[in-house]
Amino acid sequence: MTEHPARIAADASPVESHPAPAPTAWHSRPVERVQGEMKTGSAGLSVAEAADRLESHGPNRLPESAQAGPIARFLRQFRNLLIYVLLAAAAVTAALGHLVDTGVILAVVLVNAVIGYVQEGRAERALSAIRDMLAPEARALRGGRRVSVPAEQLVPGDMVLLEPGDRVPADLRITAAYGLRIQEAVLTGESVAVEKAPDPVAEDATLGDRRSMAFSGALVAAGGGRGIVVATGAETEIGRISGLLETVETTSTPLLRQMEGFARTVTFAILVVAALILVFGYFVSGMSFSDIFMAVVGLSVAAIPEGLPAILTVTLAIGVQGMAERRAIVRRLPAIEALGSVSVICSDKTGTLTKNEMTVASVVTARRMYQVTGAGYAPHGGITFEGRDVDVSAHPLLSDLARGAILCNDAEVSESDGIWSANGDPMEGALVTFGWKAGQDPDALRQSNPQTDAIPFDARHRFMASLHHDHEGGAAIHVKGAPERIIAMCATQHGEEDGGQPLDAAYWHARAHEIAAEGQRVLAIATQSANPEKQTLSFDDVDGDLTLLGLVGLIDPPRDEAVAAVAECRAAGIRVKMITGDHAGTALAIARRLGLENSDEVLTGGEIDGLDTDALRTAAERVDVFARTSPEHKLRLVEALQAGGAAVAMTGDGVNDAPALKRADIGVAMGRTGTEAAKEAAEIVLADDNFATIAAAVRAGRTVYDNLKKAIVFLLPVNGGEALALILALLLGLTLPITPVQILWVNMVSSVVLAMALAFEGAEPDIMRRPPRPADEPILSRFVLWRVGFVSLLFCAGIFGMFTLAQSRGATLEEARTIAVNTLVVMEIFYLFSVRFLNTTSLSIRAILGTRPVLIAIVAVTALQFAFTYAPFMEAFFDTRPLSLSQGLMVVAVGPVLLLVLEIEKRALKAWRARQRPPAPGARASSPPRRT
Ligand code: ADP
Ligand code: MG
Repeated sequence: MTEHPARIAADASPVESHPAPAPTAWHSRPVERVQGEMKTGSAGLSVAEAADRLESHGPNRLPESAQAGPIARFLRQFRNLLIYVLLAAAAVTAALGHLVDTGVILAVVLVNAVIGYVQEGRAERALSAIRDMLAPEARALRGGRRVSVPAEQLVPGDMVLLEPGDRVPADLRITAAYGLRIQEAVLTGESVAVEKAPDPVAEDATLGDRRSMAFSGALVAAGGGRGIVVATGAETEIGRISGLLETVETTSTPLLRQMEGFARTVTFAILVVAALILVFGYFVSGMSFSDIFMAVVGLSVAAIPEGLPAILTVTLAIGVQGMAERRAIVRRLPAIEALGSVSVICSDKTGTLTKNEMTVASVVTARRMYQVTGAGYAPHGGITFEGRDVDVSAHPLLSDLARGAILCNDAEVSESDGIWSANGDPMEGALVTFGWKAGQDPDALRQSNPQTDAIPFDARHRFMASLHHDHEGGAAIHVKGAPERIIAMCATQHGEEDGGQPLDAAYWHARAHEIAAEGQRVLAIATQSANPEKQTLSFDDVDGDLTLLGLVGLIDPPRDEAVAAVAECRAAGIRVKMITGDHAGTALAIARRLGLENSDEVLTGGEIDGLDTDALRTAAERVDVFARTSPEHKLRLVEALQAGGAAVAMTGDGVNDAPALKRADIGVAMGRTGTEAAKEAAEIVLADDNFATIAAAVRAGRTVYDNLKKAIVFLLPVNGGEALALILALLLGLTLPITPVQILWVNMVSSVVLAMALAFEGAEPDIMRRPPRPADEPILSRFVLWRVGFVSLLFCAGIFGMFTLAQSRGATLEEARTIAVNTLVVMEIFYLFSVRFLNTTSLSIRAILGTRPVLIAIVAVTALQFAFTYAPFMEAFFDTRPLSLSQGLMVVAVGPVLLLVLEIEKRALKAWRARQRPPAPGARASSPPRRT
């Protein structure tokens, strides 16, 4: 008996003791023995004992796979095609005796590696912070109370409660199971869920046959139960097998990969062109090898978009971070891009579109319809009939109904600091509060009628049943659930004289509709006495013979911010659809208050079942309210909407929602009420379960996509302009207007500093008034290619024009080059203002004032250019010359000219586009009403 505590003490550091000694055969021991050895009572561990064991055992965590060390990560920055090109160039320049150039190139390589290192670290920190936000929680019994604790803090001996959709948080010896089925594919590879039970199994049973155990990492597929933690962290079976936590998602996205591929293609193409020019210049034009080689190096570094991949990664990371601050946690990076193209959002109702702060507002018995007063979970208020207070003791039907409401219920309502709150399902909490108001004492009632067994609520069967034994030897079954379900299970109803009357189903259905039409959620409550011998409950026990006690109507008001978010989505061309398990009447009433586009029509789960694929497709497009659905319907709806060409975001929380979440373009899981299964299937987790957060995420997704596009449209023309200028010079046999090392300076310093500001750009004012971006639109769209090409030409003209102009006015070659470089940077600064608003004018107050990051970037770049131009040590590296005031003014004057030309282009493009596709209202059936 004493062997276990000794073992606990000996294993002070579970991580180091890996691989652990042969595990104890908990599965073959009776529950009582396990409880004894673990010193776990029926109330679980005490809070103090749990803290002690956590101290001696360490956290319930698998060791993470070793992260690459800082040096390895730094060296990794050099594994890059561009760096190889630069290193080769450095070697050749050194051999040619251009030692200063060699030094500059090497310095640039180093700076590039440092920037890459820092940016990568930043992106990784952002992602790992998000990972921590997703740490799983477990429900445990501590000191007799149900508590939610981080799974990491579970210790051997803890009593853990399991519900459908949970990831089993540690290895558990099952002590109770209600239809508990667990899917253990992670361990056994077997995808069929295994039925679990507390009875011991043979000592030599294989993992898959240990039905008395729930293993860490497995998924609760159905039912519920509880178990005692027998192993945590590296000592669990999964810890023994893998020993390592699966490290998270890639940090790449389709767009990033597309751009990396683009950068690679450009690099190769440039190298080929460079080689041809080298051969041409050396053999045909007869230039010296040294000259032509330097020109070719210049061309290569000019044309390759060095800074682009890093800037894109940082832009994404900053976007992810910003979304996490707004409580939308991105689990997979590509979701950010996909968010921008979402055209339909399917949302749950309860808790997402509504507040999920339930209050019982009406009650119906076989004789009367009562109103309930008071708000929230505080037991203040009472029951009224036709406006007058009711003495509940004179209404036995009412108190019997309250009894069922309290007993068939797992929630607790408690007060702390004057605030009443529900622990458990908010709706069940509301029923407890109602019980108080109807004159019952919930705690006393539950003590005298302990629950022996239960069928938990499930969105598929839409009811819950519980079996109770009182101390006088009586037993009863209480059932609550959706009225249609419960009415069908009843034969009689509770009449005035305690005896049963035949059921008047029509009466009840009519009342249920009445309550639902007011937007209230309706529940029916029924009861039946049971044989005192009875210890377990099955579906057969609650079929057909129940006595209906009455109906309860609960209000759950829409969230104010959800109403605003629905309007925002409609303006953004996104159709919002509500999918709920609730009554059709309730759903429609709430849909109207939310302002859904079509709140006149509703499709129920039963009706969906009756439709074939094609019919469902048209119906799913037209209808916005789906009621009395079960999770399976969500999958069919997603598929139907996608078949109609929509990009669908779908919310979900339960284990059965996982397939629909996976199938949707964006699966959105609830962070607070969602199961682990739903979170793992989702792309995005809402930390606050709030619909408004989805709308905010779409907005953020559109913004990030815009910013990526802006970074590309900003950076590529710089390369384009430089390359064009050099090619022109080479073809015309002129001196290079900019030297290779000067180009490196612009590309790796000035451009990167300016482009960083774009990562922080906020949303453009019209961002939620445009229709969604087609999902298959490439980032290098015709518009982007045109803009890049056009601006490249302008940059080339600026560089070449100012270089020639300066020389014609008597400047030396070095001075003219300094002027050319500064002109390019001035053009970049002004172009930055233009790019911040891709389609609309940049000549507005908001545009001219800029943002803090923009101003910081401009001040930094200006300071750097001054140093570049006037600092003696820069002269040594870059061969620059100080400019006169008039030369400087000439350079700066190019900026406004460029901005003006760009504005004219924007207007011309807009006019051209308007002529291309004249506004066609009603062209698309689901297009939103245009706002003006
Ligand atoms: P929703 O989509 O609004 O969350 P659910 O699927 O959770 O809907 O619930 C559907 C119906 O099942 C509810 O309208 C209610 O009648 C019933 N119901 C919900 N929760 C419970 C519960 N804990 N016990 C019994 N019945 C419930
Ligand atoms: Mg629900």
